Amino acid sequence: MKIFTNEMIFSIIEKRMMKNTGLIFNVQKFSIHDGPGIRTTVFFQGCPLRCKWCSNPESQEKYGKTAVLEGIQPAKAYSVDEIMAICLEDGPFYAESGGGVTLSGGEVLFQGEFAADLLARLGEKHIHRALETSGCADPALFKRLAALAELVLFDVKHHNRELHIKGTGVDTTVILENLRSLAALSAPAGPAVLPRIPVIPGYNDGPADAAAFAGLLASLGLKTVQLLPFHQFGRKKYDALGRVYEYSGSPILHPEDLEQYRGIFITHGIEAFF
Ligand code: SF4
Repeated sequence: MKIFTNEMIFSIIEKRMMKNTGLIFNVQKFSIHDGPGIRTTVFFQGCPLRCKWCSNPESQEKYGKTAVLEGIQPAKAYSVDEIMAICLEDGPFYAESGGGVTLSGGEVLFQGEFAADLLARLGEKHIHRALETSGCADPALFKRLAALAELVLFDVKHHNRELHIKGTGVDTTVILENLRSLAALSAPAGPAVLPRIPVIPGYNDGPADAAAFAGLLASLGLKTVQLLPFHQFGRKKYDALGRVYEYSGSPILHPEDLEQYRGIFITHGIEAFF
């Protein structure tokens, strides 16, 4: 007879719960930055990365905070039906604007089974689905979820393995594997792919960084990139969480500061926009 330890039992219960229940820290309506048209963005709790510039640091922990802190709401458990009901309220806006629903985080694939159920249900309603991801996830799960979306927004933080670890706490191996498989999946019938690079001062904002990123994308046949200039929107949340924000002294970047950076992508045949 198989002996189950407490850890194994908890893991089985948790997997079953996570399939039916998602921990969500925000549902943002009328979002216009995470895919085409007017969208509802569903923010998933939990992330395996620890990006030092993260603007949603409250999203990183698996379960989030239970207390309301200044500017931070605790994550709440939702069923797929509940999230669907919220998303469907804005169906007419999606239809009129070419919009839909974006799953974001945190890292969506951290609650992969719940996300898969939600994407499938949105698909049944013919709602455009965008998946925003760091790509740090089990490759089989990643492929399964990517195939359920019309658009994958893939955030690439650094082209260099050591610097990626330094800035985010995780290695690039699985992330690059997933980006490669996504690029292959996207042609010709898979989801559209939009790589996005958060441009962080002193970390990945040099001309050599732009050339290395552009070379990486070009080698995968990816022809477009969105550049996300550094901002400090999450700064106050670090205070509320009692954490140190390492980028408080770093300058905010604007598109006009990154014209030369953008031009390097263009010389590599990559359409870069903000
Ligand atoms: S991947 Fe996104 S949510 Fe996760 S730590 Fe990095 S910036 Fe924050």
